[in-house]
Amino acid sequence: MAKATSSPPLSTADAAGRWSAALAWLDGRFGKRADRHVRARVVVQAIFAVTCLVLGVQFARWVRAAQAGALPLPDRPAGVEAFLPISGLMGLLDWFYQGSLNVIHPAATVLVLIAIALALLLRKSFCSWICPIGFLSDWLGKLGRMAFGRNFKPWKWLDIPLRGLKYLLMAFFVVSILTMGREALTEFLTSPYNKVADVKMGLFFTQMSTVGLSVMAVLVIGSVFIQGLWCRYLCPYGALLGLFSWASPSRIRRDPATCVDCGLCDKACPSRLPVATKLRIISADCTGCMDCVASCPVKGALEMRVGRRTVTPVTYAAAVLALFLASYVGARAAGAWDSGVSDREYVERIQNIKSSEYGHPGMQND
Ligand code: SF4
Ligand code: SF4
Repeated sequence: MAKATSSPPLSTADAAGRWSAALAWLDGRFGKRADRHVRARVVVQAIFAVTCLVLGVQFARWVRAAQAGALPLPDRPAGVEAFLPISGLMGLLDWFYQGSLNVIHPAATVLVLIAIALALLLRKSFCSWICPIGFLSDWLGKLGRMAFGRNFKPWKWLDIPLRGLKYLLMAFFVVSILTMGREALTEFLTSPYNKVADVKMGLFFTQMSTVGLSVMAVLVIGSVFIQGLWCRYLCPYGALLGLFSWASPSRIRRDPATCVDCGLCDKACPSRLPVATKLRIISADCTGCMDCVASCPVKGALEMRVGRRTVTPVTYAAAVLALFLASYVGARAAGAWDSGVSDREYVERIQNIKSSEYGHPGMQND
């Protein structure tokens, strides 16, 4: 039988060496020049994706404790409310009407506000630097390119109306919320359904129906063939952020005097924007990912500008992280993060979550 071997413990010098190699990798001091841009984005996306996984595990533990009635419950990770953007939007309007933030899912509203603030300052950076679905979508697209040498593009006559779908979905949600009226909005936010909307969302993913699984499979497999299938055609949240991003001072700018018309930026753009023929990119589909800048072989021909300043990808990444973290810390300090629903109420509601009381208020017959 082969003898089991164990690796020798890592010395401090080795650990320091690996750490500085990691920093050099991140800084692009080895590897392709373009990697510097790509690495900064991958690292930021990975930080948020891992955070989501950790929150998911904590949330599952919290739900299990509530199902078992194990009071006091462990801390509920309010960050899971990032997956309740509609409740967050409703909370935003309710905040405007009432003058105070609802206590059911305050983090959902804060997270929507952060995404909007990012869009106003740094385009749809939420989509390309933070959103775990965007991250997953990027990798599924890469998988497709590895398997087939390219991603597939629907014909233009099909692509254009399909891109409109996300705006239709967005308009549906926004108009529904805006026309709800003050009382109905508050009633929804304090309804039994909304109080456990996060748990319902978790159960949707962990106990997925055949229809849910089929839709998910179509989206995942489809994203391997068509890059950014969900984001490009269906995400209403991205559509809304795109509209806010029009007001952003951040723009990709091309200098025609130095541009050599190689077209590499067009090929690199995941949103398939015609970067090589524009002087500046104002499209609502530009996510500020800076992949076009990364691909450009001529220094200064293509840049991200915020106002008159040129911003490097690392500075852009730092700005996204700083804005997000400062808002999160500020919301926590202001007591606008954790839900005001008590542990006892959560236990009672989660134990009865299958009852008709927890159906969607708009879909109940009574
Ligand atoms: S134009 Fe550049 S920054 Fe905008 S989506 Fe395309 S690659 Fe990303
Ligand atoms: S990659 Fe750079 S040089 Fe090539 S077309 Fe785009 S802006 Fe011009």
